[in-house]
Amino acid sequence: MGGRGSSTTVNNGYSSFSQLKNTLSKKYGITNPDDFSDVDIKALSETMQGFEDVLKDFGAEEVFQGLYVDENTREDGSYGFGNLSLSKKKLRNYNRGDKELKQEHANRWSSTDSFKGLGAHEGAHAVEYYLTRKSKAFKTDKERNLAAAKNKIANDIVNEAVRRIKKTPYGKGKSTNELLSSISLYAGEKKVEAFAEGIANYKIKGKKGNPLGREIYNVTKKYLKG
Ligand SMILES: [Zn+2]
Repeated sequence: MGGRGSSTTVNNGYSSFSQLKNTLSKKYGITNPDDFSDVDIKALSETMQGFEDVLKDFGAEEVFQGLYVDENTREDGSYGFGNLSLSKKKLRNYNRGDKELKQEHANRWSSTDSFKGLGAHEGAHAVEYYLTRKSKAFKTDKERNLAAAKNKIANDIVNEAVRRIKKTPYGKGKSTNELLSSISLYAGEKKVEAFAEGIANYKIKGKKGNPLGREIYNVTKKYLKG
């Protein structure tokens, strides 16, 4: 458990739009993706690899139901209720997008500095949705929907990971906020983002990543087993 070697890589990426569309259709049943033919296939491919690899780690493929590439998104990407939306602007030019992601990382807004990291972050949000759908803790639809709206599962997982890490030499004496912000400034803003940033950080950087990120990943694995 725990090492980067325990994670598997789903695919070697997509070399063409038709190959991607074929996989979307066959593997996920997504038959009408947006027309993304004017984005950079390498940028889109790496983002999808990051996203799909995280889904695969947690067996959450069923919550990937739609792919949208929007011209004017405020964020680089977002995931909600089965749909992955990506910024067309970010994906249009590989080198420019990659440079922007590295800059965001340098500004500490993001814990990752790559298209794969961007995809992995959104993949983590999808995993929370999956866990919320699967959890037996909710008796009614209302309870489940409320939990989804409040990101109850991501919050619970982050809280437990923080409790655990505070017992280690790394976390001893550090405040919760200090620990969350050590993943990224974005992670320090909201626990649900700490959840996504932590999982993406561990997925991309492995053992060299942030210790709390690794703990969040491990607690999520544990949660999955119930
Ligand atoms: Zn996010």
